[in-house]
Amino acid sequence: MPLPRVRPGTVTPSYEAVRAAQFGYEYARAPMLIYWELTRACDLACRHCRAEAVVDRDPDELTTDEAGALLRQVRDFGSPLPHMVFTGGDPLKRADLFELLEEAGRVGIGVSLAPSGTALLTEDAVRRLRACGVQSMSLSLDGSTSDRHDAFRGVPGCFEMTMQAARWVADAEIPLQVNTLVTEETAGELPAIYDLLVSLRVERWSLFFLISVGRGTALREIAAGDAERLMEWICGLSERAPFAIKTTEAPHFRRVALARMHAAGLDGAAVHGSSVGRGFGIRDGNGILFVSRTGEVMPSGFLPLAAGNVRTASLVELYRTSPLFTALRDTSRLKGRCGRCEFRVICGGSRARAFAHTGDFLGEDPLCTYEPA
Ligand code: SF4
Repeated sequence: MPLPRVRPGTVTPSYEAVRAAQFGYEYARAPMLIYWELTRACDLACRHCRAEAVVDRDPDELTTDEAGALLRQVRDFGSPLPHMVFTGGDPLKRADLFELLEEAGRVGIGVSLAPSGTALLTEDAVRRLRACGVQSMSLSLDGSTSDRHDAFRGVPGCFEMTMQAARWVADAEIPLQVNTLVTEETAGELPAIYDLLVSLRVERWSLFFLISVGRGTALREIAAGDAERLMEWICGLSERAPFAIKTTEAPHFRRVALARMHAAGLDGAAVHGSSVGRGFGIRDGNGILFVSRTGEVMPSGFLPLAAGNVRTASLVELYRTSPLFTALRDTSRLKGRCGRCEFRVICGGSRARAFAHTGDFLGEDPLCTYEPA
C-alpha cells in the first residue's frame, strides 16, 4: 500500500487505517500489547512504584487456574494475537510463573517479562526464562551509579544486581530493554545513563515520563518545556544510538519526531518504517490493555479506571465494547488542545496523565506545549 507523505497539519484519521493495514493490527479489534500485573509482591521499595508493591502477595490475586483462563481469553482476540508483558510487582515472586509461561506458549502468545533487579533474578532463572520462550526482558535503571539508582529503588545493591542481570540476559541472547524513569530528579542523569547503556548489549531504551500515581506522587514530573527539550535531545540521540529509544506515557514525542523527520525531507514510507512511526496511534486503551493482579481490566497501569474484571466478564468484550475503551479510541471525544490537535490520531496525549491532572481521561495532556491552530 502506498503511504501518504507526512506533513504536520495534514494528519488525518486515515493514518490509523493506513498503519493498521500495514502492520495487520486494528486497535478496535485487539490490542497490540497486554500488560499483565501478575502480582503486587516485590522485594524492592521503589519511590515511584505504580503498584505500591509490598513483599507479600495479595491474597486476592488471580489463582493459577484463573491465570490460565486469562491466557486462553487472550487467544479469543484472534490473529494476530496481542503480545503480553508479564509485569508486577515482580513476576518472579509467583511460584507458578514458569507454569504460566509454558501455558502462554501452548496458547501461542508471545511473552516479554519485566522482572525486578533482585536476588530472585539469578543466572539460572534467566536460562529457565529463555527455555520457556520469553521473547524479551526489561530491567529498570534510574541512575548511572549505585548510589543514585539504589536511592530510587529503596534497596542497597540493586544497581549491581541489575547490571549483572543485564549481562546474563544478553548472554542468554534474550533481547533486553532498559526502562528509565523521567522526573525532575532523574532528567539531569539521562546522558550518564545513556553512556552506561552503550557499554551494555541493549536492544531498546524506554524513557517513562512519570505520572503521579501510586508512590509516584512523591516525585515531581518534569515541566512541559523541559519535556519538549528532552524530546529534541532524544531525537538527536536516536540518530546515533546503537539501540532503539522510545518514550512511554509521552506520545507527543511522535509530534516532535515527525516534525524533525519532515524537516529532514523524509517521506511517509520512511516515517512509518521508523521506530517512532511504528508506534503511531498506540496509547492507553487504543492498542494497549492492562490486567491487574486481581483481574481488573484497565486501559493502562497508570490509568486506574476498570472496565470490568476477567473473573466475571469477557476480556475481549471489555476491550472492544466497554464505554471506557470505546471512548478512549474515539479521538473526536478528546478535549482541550488534544481535541483540537491535528496530531490527535497519531498522538492523542497521555490519557493517564490527563486523568491524573484533571480527573477527566479525555482531557488534554498537560505535559505537551503544542498549541493547535
Ligand atoms: S496537543 Fe495533545 S494530541 Fe496534540 S501533540 Fe500535544 S499531546 Fe498530542
